[in-house]
Amino acid sequence: MSTTTAADRADTADELDDLRAVAKEVANERYAPFAEQWDRDRSTISVQERRYLAELGWLGIALPEEFGGAGGTFAQALVVVEELAKVYSPAAFQVFEANVGPAQHLARIGTEEQKRQFLPGIVSGEHTMAVGISEPDAGSAATDMVTKAEIRDDIVVVRGLKRWISNGGEADRYLVYARMDDTPGSRGIGAVIVESNRPGVRFGRRERLMGFRGIPSADVIFEDVEVPVENIVVRPPDGFRKLFSNFSIERLGNTTMSLALGQAALDKSIDYVQQRLQFGRPIVEFQSVQLTLADMALQVDAARLLRDRAVASLDAGTPSTLEVSLAKCAANEMAKRVTDMAMALHGANGYSEEYGLERMHRDAHGWALAGGTPAMQRIRIVSEILGRGFDQRPPRQS
Ligand SMILES: Cc1cc2nc3c(=O)[nH]c(=O)nc-3n(C[C@H](O)[C@H](O)[C@H](O)COP(=O)(O)OP(=O)(O)OC[C@H]3O[C@@H](n4cnc5c(N)ncnc54)[C@H](O)[C@@H]3O)c2cc1C
Repeated sequence: MSTTTAADRADTADELDDLRAVAKEVANERYAPFAEQWDRDRSTISVQERRYLAELGWLGIALPEEFGGAGGTFAQALVVVEELAKVYSPAAFQVFEANVGPAQHLARIGTEEQKRQFLPGIVSGEHTMAVGISEPDAGSAATDMVTKAEIRDDIVVVRGLKRWISNGGEADRYLVYARMDDTPGSRGIGAVIVESNRPGVRFGRRERLMGFRGIPSADVIFEDVEVPVENIVVRPPDGFRKLFSNFSIERLGNTTMSLALGQAALDKSIDYVQQRLQFGRPIVEFQSVQLTLADMALQVDAARLLRDRAVASLDAGTPSTLEVSLAKCAANEMAKRVTDMAMALHGANGYSEEYGLERMHRDAHGWALAGGTPAMQRIRIVSEILGRGFDQRPPRQS
């Protein structure tokens, strides 16, 4: 049994600062010069690039040491995510996916055999795992999913279609949420790992999204795909509850992506308004520009404090759904607004691809949709505050 305590896992400010400095340097040297072009080309991160991130140890920061990870904190992993995402989200996404995405689910609720089989390859960058929850008719209403994972003795037969899957077609392992029995709603749902090379796995065409251009998105289709029963991660009736309590971790990664976009847009604006001259003076001399900048700083800082509180609770072993939903909702909406304000402060330059702000704004919209919309976070917030659920479905006819 692990004897790690919350105190062991707390980072000093200096440790986090050092890691931030390295991540910032890598982001600026390796990704900044190419971010604009890669976004335009919709290039994806190559396997070699993923291996490079692995060599830095960044794909296993928050994964257990016995499976190749560093057993570090989420605060550490998210410092790296933030610095990379300020410059180029697709690079940050690799660190996100490995540390707070489906691999982290596996590390927390998978079997020992699954961890041994799948985690080392993710830490080394050989493999990558995506998550399949959404379907054409099951978005916010995720528990309306119809994808089936039928258990037949020692095999599971997976049948269905998952939509909007980030890294769909690129990842070679999928954590697929599916119905494992006939119980309606969440209590019939479990999750199973499906490898992309299994007969019957197909991918839809790559989606052309407004943002997320370096992160491929596609339908993932399962046509009677057979996987061993050992690939089941969780079963009904409490599988979905376990999955969603861990999904809070992924939401803090999403929160960090948004925070990075807002912070980077603010930082760029601070420089720009002091350099850009109009009417013979730097535009920062105009009071409305000062007020805009102050509003941006207010929103970024508020989002950061909410995010830091939620991450600290998670690292201390006391994750809070309320704190996570508050943080995600605040950061998602902040990033959309602050990147928009930054574009305005940059005038026509803000509207040009060259300054990177329109890319950040496009990506900010994507992060607000992924992992549950701000509206759904708000419903969760009220449920947590009031200590009761709110049924979103129409009343049943008697
Ligand atoms: C960039 C991106 C990446 C994604 N990555 C993944 C991934 O890797 N894996 C995956 O499984 N899915 C992924 N998704 C899907 C994502 O989880 C869904 O898009 C999201 O949950 C919303 O579902 P929907 O798009 O079907 O919208 P809908 O659920 O149809 O919602 C439409 C609108 O109605 C509102 N709404 C719905 N229900 C309610 C309600 N009860 N109360 C108030 N408002 C409501 C929503 O807030 C929204 O504004 C991704 C999506 C995007 C855009």
